[in-house]
Amino acid sequence: DLPDAPEPWELAAEADLLTAEIVLPLPTPTTFHYLVPDALRDLIRPGQRVKVPFGRGDQLKVGFVVAVGSPPPAARRLKSIDALIDREPLIAGDMLELTKWISERYLGSWGQVLDSVIPAGVKKQAGTREIRCFQLAEGALEKAASLKLPARQRAVLEVLQEADGPVPVDQLEAAAQCGTSPIHALRDKKLIVPVRQRRSTMTEEYTPAARTADLILNPDQQTALDAILEPLQAPRHETILLHGVTGSGKTEIYIRAIREVVSYGRQAIVLVPEISLTPQTIRRFGSRFSSLAVLHSHLSDAERHWHWQRIASGEVEVVIGARSAVFAPTPHLGIIVLDEEHETTFKQNATPRYHAREVARERARRAGVPLVLGSATPTLESFDRAQRGLDRLIEMPNRVEQRPLPPVVIVDTRNDALVPRGHSIGRALKHSIERSINEGGQVILFLNLRGYSPVLWCLKCNEGVKCPDCDISLTWHRDRGKLLCHSCDFEMPPPERCPSCGQPGQKYLGAGTQKLEQEVRSKFPDARIVRMDSDAMRKPGSHDEALERFRKGEIDILLGTQMIAKGLDFPNVTLVGVIDADSMLHQPDLRAAERTFQLIAQVAGRTGRGEKAGRVIVQTMSPDDAVIQLAAEHDYLGFAKRELAQRREHHAPPATNLARVIVRGPREDLVRAEIRKIVETLKETAKGRGDDLRILGPAPAPILRLKKLFRYHCQLSAPTIEQILEWWRAAEARFSLPDEVELTIDVDPLDL
Ligand code: ADP
Ligand code: ZN
Repeated sequence: DLPDAPEPWELAAEADLLTAEIVLPLPTPTTFHYLVPDALRDLIRPGQRVKVPFGRGDQLKVGFVVAVGSPPPAARRLKSIDALIDREPLIAGDMLELTKWISERYLGSWGQVLDSVIPAGVKKQAGTREIRCFQLAEGALEKAASLKLPARQRAVLEVLQEADGPVPVDQLEAAAQCGTSPIHALRDKKLIVPVRQRRSTMTEEYTPAARTADLILNPDQQTALDAILEPLQAPRHETILLHGVTGSGKTEIYIRAIREVVSYGRQAIVLVPEISLTPQTIRRFGSRFSSLAVLHSHLSDAERHWHWQRIASGEVEVVIGARSAVFAPTPHLGIIVLDEEHETTFKQNATPRYHAREVARERARRAGVPLVLGSATPTLESFDRAQRGLDRLIEMPNRVEQRPLPPVVIVDTRNDALVPRGHSIGRALKHSIERSINEGGQVILFLNLRGYSPVLWCLKCNEGVKCPDCDISLTWHRDRGKLLCHSCDFEMPPPERCPSCGQPGQKYLGAGTQKLEQEVRSKFPDARIVRMDSDAMRKPGSHDEALERFRKGEIDILLGTQMIAKGLDFPNVTLVGVIDADSMLHQPDLRAAERTFQLIAQVAGRTGRGEKAGRVIVQTMSPDDAVIQLAAEHDYLGFAKRELAQRREHHAPPATNLARVIVRGPREDLVRAEIRKIVETLKETAKGRGDDLRILGPAPAPILRLKKLFRYHCQLSAPTIEQILEWWRAAEARFSLPDEVELTIDVDPLDL
């Protein structure tokens, strides 16, 4: 018998072939090993994309190289990489490691994390084109010295020697003052070689804002700045929680700390909620730094790619952006600032379900640089960490220039007859609005509900008209003449009769911002009014434009949803009205109290920021609620103490760590059966892992049906996050789900 032909891996080991470890954007925790063909040996590097044959049909898939040269695992048949996609790595080594950490911390796939972290414009190299260049061949100058060359050819060589790298053909011709023939002659003599290079077609459009001088910091600000600068000088990592009331001058401190970082030639990342990326913020940073990259969601692929490259080249001093800017490819990171730390938009609620604060913490830790978290109403997670000494806590209890925090008046809407019935603005609020406007001030009214009426109610069967695909009442949008689902964008004209009982006589109940706008217009016919919500601000730029008009004093009353509650700094606002403080209070959410406190404190923060005093009116049906009262007294510490005790009692964060498991599918019986099996497996896996692993549920999700899918969930809790992760990994291997159901795990869940 002839011996079998050697298997590829035997050859690989023998011939010292190179292998690469690849991750694919698939929901799998596995990495895959491939042989690197000879042609790619010198080109392949971690962070590049490759095409690899995958699965039974050897279908070509795009994957990311995460390591090169690792030995092939024995006894496994290795396939070869088919092609290399990127000439340069798309992501640097430290960021590759960070994405791996995210995949472990949030139980996602490394390939999926990488795929979502690298912007599409970077993958496509949007906004660039290939340019023909020439560079000196190896040993060209020595060779040229012994040749008799015409002056024009010498000129070309001199330009290339000077440039010390590839020069585009047109630039070469201009610099050497020649045509193409000397260049071709040199190429034929093999003294110069053609290369192709990608260059951006974008040009700088950014006009630096007018420079402004530094403010003189007050003693509180100086103390805070010193504390931030201390780890910078070491340098070492530290997380600093800057708990400063609204208007205490936090932004000024960030700017000064970043100035210090930039003076050492390092870069800063500033993370803000998308909604705070207003011209006001940009102008404020733009007037203090010479090079800025602003990453917002309206960037084109080409713009995003251009910024990415400017940041990666080290040229950008400060990157300002929403959540995903935590992945900005700064080569010399010196500090990360995360402002409005309490904002829920820092958590991504699609795969990968990371929290930008935790990613920032890990990135800063690995880079050995400080992380500054700022908020007037820190999350209890962050406050608790700081109180326990894990992070540094800096308190700024006063506004700058001894400006007082505004008095907050609680109005009981059950007594303050809202005349006539069905109106949203009570007597007290109405009088206050009149007074503010008469005195030349501006007013902000907050109502966290867009549309005209949240429900079309049938008086016969006592039910609202629901979305056919979701368990949600449809909202009446009078301006469009349609009922809309705020979850899936389903829309329909209002039915003449109740869809369930067929009777006429339905009524619109409740008020959203559109109805509020109508009421305000009729009560204050002379006032200049603007409504700000995602319906009214659909056009890109309209949000900025409205804020600019408000700043210039061209608007008297600004009313809207949370769009107006965040970070705005307008000195002339003398009244803030909260139409319905109860809207969040009674949600089935463990953070309902926290959200309500934050909301009142943040909207109150929009007034009394200038020379004029401000005041706040909070309308509520729960005037005796402790949370609303503590918010009215600006008593964050009192609130935190009370709420932390309650969380501890209920085994809720930050006393424990949570993960939420959601099973979705078109058939309710199947979904229910699968979640039961999953819970059983989890319970079995928990055995022997300690008594403090808890599981809550299974139960139908608060909104059972969403976008045609039924949803059931359960919740895991444990004292440490590591316990949850290990528990889940052990159990996960034993699940086998039918194709019709989809399983999601959300580590540190924030929403329902
Ligand atoms: P925060 O970010 O805490 O809400 P800001 O930094 O926006 O506070 O400051 C509030 C207002 O006070 C801004 O208009 C700012 O220009 C001003 N301000 C901040 N620090 C000082 C200071 N040291 N002296 C005078 N005004 C200041
Ligand atoms: Zn729907």
